Amino acid sequence: MTQMMECNERLNIVQAKIAKAANLAQRNAEDVRLMAISKTRSADEIRPLLDTGHRLYGENRVQEAAAKWPALRDAYDDVEVHLVGQLQSNKAEDAVQLFDAIHSLDRASLIKALAKAMDKLDRRVPCFLQVNIGEESQKGGCAIGDIPGLLESARSAGIEVVGLMGVPPSEVNPAPYFALLAKLAKDNDLTGLSMGMSGDFESAIKLGATHVRVGTALFGARS
Ligand SMILES: *Cc1c(COP(=O)(O)O)cnc(C)c1O
Repeated sequence: MTQMMECNERLNIVQAKIAKAANLAQRNAEDVRLMAISKTRSADEIRPLLDTGHRLYGENRVQEAAAKWPALRDAYDDVEVHLVGQLQSNKAEDAVQLFDAIHSLDRASLIKALAKAMDKLDRRVPCFLQVNIGEESQKGGCAIGDIPGLLESARSAGIEVVGLMGVPPSEVNPAPYFALLAKLAKDNDLTGLSMGMSGDFESAIKLGATHVRVGTALFGARS
């Protein structure tokens, strides 16, 4: 019961902050989807949030998601799980089977592998093109200059790209990076913007985020 109350409280706080940020930006809060990032959390830790009625989740690893979500999907209706972590081409088929959207499309070889998996499984999974907005070598995402070519390849392979995803460098003001990602999306006629985490989702919303990826603010610190 306490776990449930704590969970409800955290969710209410995050939702209130989303509403406030949207309001300040003269946006509709319903246009911002809250994705609960449940990586490293056990099914027991996730269930209280599912019990509140929250239905959109994000995971960063295929294997971990495969171990947790099939049973949770059986137990709760209308669950949506998105992949937000880097994807190896040899796990493309598992990813297409497991996830309702993929936020980490970032290279031609992965486009090929995903297109093949989607054809084979006859299941189309919408994708976000991940952009390495801070030009950081340790992070996933394509170079800004590669966006048009990758969008073209994805489309001709039958993959629906619904938006851009980005993770700004840590320890600096993320706002200019969010603004950059928003501009790139606009320039490429994409409406989805997956940006903003626990520490910066309000700023992301002010700059146009449609999907915020929030872990610790909902579940507490990861061990
Ligand atoms: C872990 C993770 C998040 C959530 O981070 P928090 O700081 O816990 O909110 C968001 N996006 C990605 C890609 C992540 O890997």
